[in-house]
Amino acid sequence: MSTQVQFLNGLNTIGGNVVSFTEGNTRLVMDFGVNFAPAETPTGDLLADGTLPALPDLFTDVESDKTTTIFVSHLHLDHMGALKYLTKLTDVYMSQASADLYHVLTELGTESAPNATIKVIPFETPMMFGDFEVTFFETDHDARGAAAIRVRDGVHTFVHSGDVRLDGPHPERVNHWADILREAHIDLFLLEGTEFSFDADDEKEHVRHTEMSLQQDFGQILDEHHQLVVINPYERNIDRLEALQNTARLHGREILWDKQFATIMRAMGVADVKEIDWEAALARPHHYVIQNHFNQLHDLDQFDGQFVYLHMNGEPLGEYDPRFAELQAYLDANHVELQRLGASGHAKPEDLVALAQHVNAQKTVTWHSFKPEKEAEALRKVGLNVYLPTKGETLAY
Ligand SMILES: [Zn+2]
Ligand SMILES: [Zn+2]
Repeated sequence: MSTQVQFLNGLNTIGGNVVSFTEGNTRLVMDFGVNFAPAETPTGDLLADGTLPALPDLFTDVESDKTTTIFVSHLHLDHMGALKYLTKLTDVYMSQASADLYHVLTELGTESAPNATIKVIPFETPMMFGDFEVTFFETDHDARGAAAIRVRDGVHTFVHSGDVRLDGPHPERVNHWADILREAHIDLFLLEGTEFSFDADDEKEHVRHTEMSLQQDFGQILDEHHQLVVINPYERNIDRLEALQNTARLHGREILWDKQFATIMRAMGVADVKEIDWEAALARPHHYVIQNHFNQLHDLDQFDGQFVYLHMNGEPLGEYDPRFAELQAYLDANHVELQRLGASGHAKPEDLVALAQHVNAQKTVTWHSFKPEKEAEALRKVGLNVYLPTKGETLAY
């Protein structure tokens, strides 16, 4: 066996990280996201400017002697957003929960990748692709069905952490796969470093919520206010949506969801999902929470500024998105404060260090971060062998 590990994208950005493992005619690619690709930009330009990974045979009519299989660790856009650009039928493996979500998003027209043949790989069930064995491990991230991915070539073991956190509801999942990797003395560990992206100044203002403390604060806000409460969460974070609905009920309120959210939640098995009923909400605003997507912001006009607005990692996510200023201006005009009540899907810096230290790979690569060198420095301090590849670089095993 001789495996070529090539780093194709996402080495110093948050997301869009793509690596390939190639041996003979077999090529495995994981993940398959893009960071930011305006809808009107032609595929050729996205390939030329490096937005898409340099795999021209997947995005053009260029032929290749390789059989490619794609693996998606979870269904965030920065890990699967390139699927829609595929020009040839390609197998795309993901967990059952990711596939279920993908299916409903496709039905709703939110996702459309005609050349992606979605296949399910169950957790902890090794599958062979050529001479490679691939195993998905369930992990904890703010996306249901998220996985860490192990690749073995018969001699070497490579692991892609996917996106991961340790202060979420399921640290035991992460500890489980980390224990297995530690035992195996793996060769290469690709570790995300999102939370290493920010400067100390940014961090000071940053109150870190967990999914659990977010629910506690949400319940408290519901108790403290007698107005309508409006929430802006992300439709792909099914577990949080379900938890919000449960918390609201415990505090005597019903969340009313828009059609899109309700369809997704029902498809993902959330029971008793209620859709928006404006008449009911206007008549008894203190009995309800309204989920509002930015696209329907003006639905809130009818409440005349009499509502509390909780931003929960929905769109627009932050100041870098021009729509955020629009949202802020709308709330200002209505004399409503924008309250942030979100939680990160990404591990704290000290948790990433502890995770990498525990796994203790022969080589650790830091990526999926604006400052992978900062994470690398922290890992070197605890004695780990860290490597920062350049875009397009290949490591031979
Ligand atoms: Zn990501
Ligand atoms: Zn993610």
